[in-house]
Amino acid sequence: MQPLLLLLATPGLGADVQADLHLDTPTQLYRRKALLDGEGMEAALPQLREGGTNLAVEVLWPPRDADWEAHASKLFDIIEAEDRRLDAVSLARSPAEARSAIETGGVALVVSMEGAHGIDRSGVEGLRRLHARGLRMLGLTWSFSNRFAGSSGDGGGGLSADGWALLTEANRLGVMVDVSHASDRATMEACGWSHAPVVASHSNTDGRREHGRNLSDAAIRCIARGGGVIGVNVHGDFVGGSRDVAAVADHFDHLRSVGGAGVVALGSDYDGLIKPVTGLEHAGKLAALWGELRRRGWTDAELAGARGENFMRAWTAVERVSQALQGKPIH
Ligand SMILES: [Zn+2]
Repeated sequence: MQPLLLLLATPGLGADVQADLHLDTPTQLYRRKALLDGEGMEAALPQLREGGTNLAVEVLWPPRDADWEAHASKLFDIIEAEDRRLDAVSLARSPAEARSAIETGGVALVVSMEGAHGIDRSGVEGLRRLHARGLRMLGLTWSFSNRFAGSSGDGGGGLSADGWALLTEANRLGVMVDVSHASDRATMEACGWSHAPVVASHSNTDGRREHGRNLSDAAIRCIARGGGVIGVNVHGDFVGGSRDVAAVADHFDHLRSVGGAGVVALGSDYDGLIKPVTGLEHAGKLAALWGELRRRGWTDAELAGARGENFMRAWTAVERVSQALQGKPIH
């Protein structure tokens, strides 16, 4: 890791950030007609509070058989309604807005979209509209290839010309590009050619469990070199091994050994119809994970990074690249 990145990984003053890079709770709110402070979910407000998560990346996921753009918009409506209704949460469009929500004891909601099929018709224009609404992360694909990029779910290839245009515009706007679900080739292309750090919001490591959804060591190194982060997923099939807290911690250890501690984050995938490992059944139980990493010798700084500061560093870098590309003065 370069000295500059080490410096930026140093935790700032103020409240500790604990980020979860991938939560499908908006889909549950939609399907159950539930509320974010309601019961029965894995990462609604009660579980986030119990487990200490204060930065929640909330995902717009357009299902295969839906009108993708309309559905993504409907999920965004739900997040906006909860932002207005609940004092405890606030939609965060920048690292500064997220920190200010967290420092006043709230939960910052960062909006992402899982799969660029959600802007299949509107393309770059659609990305601009969603960005204006507050979208700050975009997954290139979900489980099927789209006109922008190949998916790991169907043996897809790299980025298309439309995908390049989308990546370029995401860099310019300051939307984090998410390579979880992308094919190996699309992952390496996006990571290698993006001007800003890329993230893998909810992906584990082939080094601990070979799986089409997990990342090769080459992909981990590429994301780390660019200053990006990888959110470890708690879905048993992706974790493998003993499918418990220790097995999840093994992926954290592997990421640290291959990409350095600065690449490590959490992207649980809660509320995404997963089978969480034993001991991490919902977001309220995350203390068990941090405790396990501490027992394994992770330092305070490494833990602070994995819990949220690495993500804040990556997001801040994405914002700075955007400002530079738009010719704005960088503060
Ligand atoms: Zn996913």
